[in-house]
Amino acid sequence: HATIYYDDDADSTAIDGKTVAVMGYGSQGHAHAQNLAESGVEVVVGLREDSNSRDAVRADGLDVETPVEAAARADIVSMLVPDTVQPSVYDDITEELDAGDTLQFAHGFNIHFGQIEPPEDVDVTMIAPKSPGHLVRRNYENDQGTPGLLAVYQDATGEAKDEALAYAQAIGCTRAGVVETTFREETETDLFGEQAVLCGGVTSLIKQAYETLVDAGYSPEMAYFECLNEMKLIVDLMYEGGLGEMWDSVSDTAEYGGLTKGDVVVDEHARANMENVLEDVQNGAFAREWIAENQANRPAYRQLRQAEKNHEIEDVGERLRDLFAWAEDTESSEEEADAE
Ligand code: NDP
Ligand code: MG
Ligand code: MG
Repeated sequence: HATIYYDDDADSTAIDGKTVAVMGYGSQGHAHAQNLAESGVEVVVGLREDSNSRDAVRADGLDVETPVEAAARADIVSMLVPDTVQPSVYDDITEELDAGDTLQFAHGFNIHFGQIEPPEDVDVTMIAPKSPGHLVRRNYENDQGTPGLLAVYQDATGEAKDEALAYAQAIGCTRAGVVETTFREETETDLFGEQAVLCGGVTSLIKQAYETLVDAGYSPEMAYFECLNEMKLIVDLMYEGGLGEMWDSVSDTAEYGGLTKGDVVVDEHARANMENVLEDVQNGAFAREWIAENQANRPAYRQLRQAEKNHEIEDVGERLRDLFAWAEDTESSEEEADAE
């Protein structure tokens, strides 16, 4: 079983007096930078000369420099630009990593798949909040925590874990709990989870169920409500109290139908497909495919993205969300989604 760390396990002296260079000011970057600074840690944000985010950093009262200048000042370099951009930012700043410095990540992809190969005399750690950045920030401001993961890939100083825990404390993660893992486990479970369930599996399930109803002559509006809108209500129950709370809350008919038909829909073929997806994550085939896709300027990705936008369920949903009062805060959630 995994070890979980809380505030009492962290010692802020492990980060006191150190300077953190936060590379990027996006979803995670803006949250880590502001939370660290408010916890009393010296922060400098690293951004391109022509970055549109420079004004936002200054407006939030923080210093901004180029990635190289920021890294030169820092004891800890926190890599919070997109995963596909990290190798090139790393190449730019690698000269600035002194012995005993730390390279800090929020996801293990580039280390685990060898896209970044740090020198042996630096610590390589991960604090990965299990949440979008705007919640990492909001929770901190509300004196709440955000659960996170901790991993140490390389411990050159012998103090890598203590420093990572102090970093986790400073961004608010130890208030909620920080689970110890490895770069390999975090990377592989994260990729598998987003592919099989969170982003891939669940959207395919929704689209195929929607198409099944519409093809059978039911109205798109009914299909949208049943297959997409109600998903949130069910997920909220599972989030609060596990599968049990969901089963307890639905009708006996829904419970019996769900228990008998769930495995008919997501059957042993789906299970075998999941195992293949996991294998491609583990053997690096997915990583190679994604790296090559980026090197080719994302032709397949662009096409798939467009096709997804063109799916009928998106038009139906946009129309319905405009019509109903429950969509009142659509605008703010769209802003949040854009911010990510
Ligand atoms: P974002 O996409 O939000 O990062 C955007 C930032 O990166 C912007 O400040 C942008 O600068 C900068 N950037 C983009 N391209 C470049 C470039 N070529 N050179 C320099 N800077 C660049 O990243 P995330 O916060 O989503 O992800 C950061 C890390 O956190 C990743 O490792 C990710 O896996 C991990 N993570 C993300 C989570 C999330 O919820 N998003 C959750 C947990 C982990 P500019 O303003 O100039 O465009
Ligand atoms: Mg994830
Ligand atoms: Mg992910």
